[in-house]
Amino acid sequence: MSRFLIKPELPYCKGCGHHLIVRNTVKALEALGASPLDVVLVTDIGCHGIVDGNFATHTVHGLHGRSVALAAGIAMGLPPEKKVIVYIGDGGATIGLQHILEAARMNVDLTVVVHNNMLYGMTGGQPSGLTPTGFRTVLTPQGYPLPHHDLPRLVLDAGAPFAARVVGLGDFSDVLRQALEVEGFALVEVLEICVSYGVKMNPDLGLRPDAQTGLGGANPGPRLRELARETGYEPGVWTGPTRPAFRPARRETASLLDMPPVLPKHSSPLAGRMTLILAGSAGEGVQQAAELLAQAAIAAGLYATKKSMYPVTVGVGFSTAEIVLSRSPIFYHGVSEPDVMVVTSADGLENQRKRIDQMRGGILWLDASLPVPETGAEVRITDFRGRAGARNAALYALLTILRATGVVPPEAFLEAVAESPIGRHIDPSRW
Ligand code: SF4
Repeated sequence: MSRFLIKPELPYCKGCGHHLIVRNTVKALEALGASPLDVVLVTDIGCHGIVDGNFATHTVHGLHGRSVALAAGIAMGLPPEKKVIVYIGDGGATIGLQHILEAARMNVDLTVVVHNNMLYGMTGGQPSGLTPTGFRTVLTPQGYPLPHHDLPRLVLDAGAPFAARVVGLGDFSDVLRQALEVEGFALVEVLEICVSYGVKMNPDLGLRPDAQTGLGGANPGPRLRELARETGYEPGVWTGPTRPAFRPARRETASLLDMPPVLPKHSSPLAGRMTLILAGSAGEGVQQAAELLAQAAIAAGLYATKKSMYPVTVGVGFSTAEIVLSRSPIFYHGVSEPDVMVVTSADGLENQRKRIDQMRGGILWLDASLPVPETGAEVRITDFRGRAGARNAALYALLTILRATGVVPPEAFLEAVAESPIGRHIDPSRW
């Protein structure tokens, strides 16, 4: 078994063209003398992507159509001797075409292997931007009416130094090897057939459009090589002008480990972990107040995380922050049932009502203007909005809680506020 594969049994349907792409990729890497740990394989959503668990390389699984963008970020952060390979389907390449073109234009140092089986296989056989004219899919049983994109031509136009198209039969590892040797962007489009949907929908592979209707006819059809030729998918290897691969300028910075420890200016009595949710309204400083609490906690020697939640329309509706404070490093920043829930507005109450209902302990700190909801938490009521105004209710609420619990010294919080941009306008110590 190859040292690039942990499991030789690949997870695809019998006869799927993806098998050969993996075997040829492995052969190309072996020909280059690469080491598995010098390779990062970034996969996309699609049948091809479930191969992650087979590879002995580093693997990263991306969102549908976004694997090139993800891989570009990885490649920019790695030294040039590392190989970054993207596996993407024709569906993913359609969704993420702009990412592919931008990576080609920037000449990012990665190799994109497009598994072009001419339809979305994993989702049931729908057409993609690489489905050729006349090819039958579940949505176009009469034959796909549009021309397909020509990916190699597109990336070469965008500035890629290397592009190739191969029919996915036999040994095409040498083309993959050439692509992997390019210092910069390379794309290899591999033509194949999804045996589950492509063959089922095109049993005769009759791909010539019907002369009358222009749609896929029932002509006895060619096989994969002929299909490629008939549909304008000519195999070939093309090169563009060579230029340096895009590498962001690196700043020489000391490693975090080399830096002297920052001594906390304050101290906190917190021995373990405390979770707090601050729920209010957009435009009322919820996120800023939560960040200032996190800064104050760090100044008191704690670890802190803050997660934000708000609608896509950021200027209206609820605004919620989840905060974790801990004496030890935080490896999970999720909060299911908080120790303290602070609600400063009706929007925040509506957003957190379900979680409040599920609280079996802890403290619910509620603005005086709000109805008291069903909860198993201890309820405390304070007139946050009346005392500090709607705009500063969240800030005042956190200060109130710190004064009551001392989990982070209020002075640390006041200092963080004073050093922030809002410190020029307000002085919470007077509240
Ligand atoms: S459904 Fe199609 S693309 Fe997916 S593994 Fe099976 S043959 Fe391959």
